[in-house]
Amino acid sequence: MENSRIDRIEYGTLTGKRPRLAGNNSRIPVHGLEVELLLIRLTTDDGASGFGLGRADAETAQALLGQRFSDLLSSDGRIREEWNAFEFSLWDLLGNLAGKPVYELVARDEKRNGERLRVPCYDTTLLIDDLHLESNEAGAALIADEARYGYERNHRNFKIKVGRGARWMPLEKGTQRDIAVVKAVRNAVGGEAKIMIDANNGYNLNIAKRVLAATADCDVFWLEEAFQEDPALYEDLQGWIKREGLSVLIADGEGGAPPELMDWARAGLVDVIQYDIFSHGFSKWLDTGAQLDAWGVRTAPHHYGRHLGNYVSGHLAPAVQGFTFVEWDEVTTPGLDASGYRVEAGQVVLPDAPGFGLALEEAVFRAAVKDGGYDLRDGAAR
Ligand SMILES: [Mg+2]
Repeated sequence: MENSRIDRIEYGTLTGKRPRLAGNNSRIPVHGLEVELLLIRLTTDDGASGFGLGRADAETAQALLGQRFSDLLSSDGRIREEWNAFEFSLWDLLGNLAGKPVYELVARDEKRNGERLRVPCYDTTLLIDDLHLESNEAGAALIADEARYGYERNHRNFKIKVGRGARWMPLEKGTQRDIAVVKAVRNAVGGEAKIMIDANNGYNLNIAKRVLAATADCDVFWLEEAFQEDPALYEDLQGWIKREGLSVLIADGEGGAPPELMDWARAGLVDVIQYDIFSHGFSKWLDTGAQLDAWGVRTAPHHYGRHLGNYVSGHLAPAVQGFTFVEWDEVTTPGLDASGYRVEAGQVVLPDAPGFGLALEEAVFRAAVKDGGYDLRDGAAR
């Protein structure tokens, strides 16, 4: 295994499909029906392979060709930082070579006794899909139906996009509809479910307080991206939440986070850190998660619109005590076999297969490589 060399690198794009059109968030219009998966498959000279989401041009990939596998790892068995563009493929390959799931390679302790690993997840598909409806009641009923759809597919935790008044609706009516939606979803999914709301920075401090006060009986688990991270405003909001006797957590960090965010988490201003699983990266998350554990701050990596985050995120859970949720964006991708994973009672059940436990359909992936991808081997493009 140590002497295996990277002998071939293939890059291709598969297209996945959501079960329904994903609508707006508070800032951005329709997210659409399709998602693109940019995949890199690595094969070693002894025939092992691994694949994952990645983005690297052929020139960058050329530098990886011929590298000895052991030279790609640091002394603690992690992917060396300079190869981060390929880290998901390399983690998969590492697991395949070791015959172990990635989560076992990174776990801090193992006490599963042959039980499958289960990690809590939430349905992230409740977007702002109701803008065509005039009445708040009808809008709220539509989103509640979407929550029921997820519930029927074994989800027990739900995240709702809010901030309708930031762009798409008049402020007052949009805020009232946000409140009506949260109440309708709570009614639809019952008292046990965890409900999160995500304003994509479409609230300000006063709107955030208003919505949380009006939904106090809905037991919102976290408020995500209420507004652009600001320590003065978060300090005020944290104090207000405690005085109101609410238990809602403040979550932030999925994109464009200021470098001080970790300091604010350490200071107790942010309760849940949500750096993206792909742009922050799996290896970096191992360190970030350990740091957050030391501070008693929760970990819930963001991902959306790239399908594979549904599967790879949970592999981090056994390495991070405060790992709270996998974000689940329901997608099916022809050419990708993810049948080892399932959602059961609000949890992702992970396969105990090596690597990330995913497989590619050879003909579909090869067609994708031919159609605009690249295939590098023996130091020369084919
Ligand atoms: Mg978000």
